[in-house]
Amino acid sequence: STVPTVVLNDGNVIPQLGFGVWQVASEEAFATVATALEVGYRSIDTAAAYGNEAEVGRAIRESGVPRDEIFLTTKLWNSDQGYDSTLRAFDKSMGELGLEYLDLYLIHWPAAQADRFVDTFRAFQALKSQGRIRSIGVSNFTADHLQRVIAETGETPAVNQIELHPSLSQLKLRGFHAEHGIATEAWSPLGQGNELKNATVVEIAEQTGRTPAQVIIRWHLQLGNIVIPKSVTPSRIEENFDVFSFELTTDQMQRISGLDTANRIGPDPDEFT
Ligand code: NAD
Repeated sequence: STVPTVVLNDGNVIPQLGFGVWQVASEEAFATVATALEVGYRSIDTAAAYGNEAEVGRAIRESGVPRDEIFLTTKLWNSDQGYDSTLRAFDKSMGELGLEYLDLYLIHWPAAQADRFVDTFRAFQALKSQGRIRSIGVSNFTADHLQRVIAETGETPAVNQIELHPSLSQLKLRGFHAEHGIATEAWSPLGQGNELKNATVVEIAEQTGRTPAQVIIRWHLQLGNIVIPKSVTPSRIEENFDVFSFELTTDQMQRISGLDTANRIGPDPDEFT
């Protein structure tokens, strides 16, 4: 395939470009994931909280693509954190998905007030040692949260999936990830569509003869991020995958990185429960 890969700190390999299904209603999730797999995506990002694991699993099972050619991620919801409740929530997700193993399980949010994310990660380690999950990681963790997991479990999460787009380029946290061998995965990589109207992005799109979405996805890829744009529109699903036959110049990369305003769309990871 034409999609570059990222080697995780456990030796497993994830496609650098994947497909996200947040806010894809369960009724359209089957057709949407089927389209993505036909277009060529081989990495799908869902979560228990998205309410579409059953349809995502069915689309994967019925796609005709061998299971071992697909990289599937799902996430544990906050209220299921804790050792035993994590094991139960994992069984429930796998029942919904109808699959034998999972490629990547993420703690969806630290929910640090409850202080259960370390025990949750210990349950992830047990599931990984049983062979039911290939890689274990986290989402929306700060450097402090990551440091606690590393210190208290002795294992470094393979991935931290964080809000990351031109308005929030996460320079500092990406630096921390690089120091510790944690792969950076960008959620809301297009800023939920808001970033596509940015004048600088539009100008670079005109210069390169590409669309704003393609320009931003290229920016992520060239930064080294794993990137999981979402769309339910087949032409856009294709457009977002057609990003491997051009490159941004160093100057274009820097102009996009210069758009950082440190503004989040989503909740503050230190506060969200
Ligand atoms: P996104 O940044 O991928 O933007 C998606 C939206 O952008 C679409 O709904 C559409 O309106 C627009 N769009 C997409 N492609 C386009 C194109 N080619 N042309 C014009 N408009 C286009 O937003 P997202 O869905 O929030 O993020 C992607 C994925 O990240 C999610 O589906 C989910 O899998 C993941 N995510 C994870 C978390 C987390 O807490 N871990 C939070 C949010 C999202």
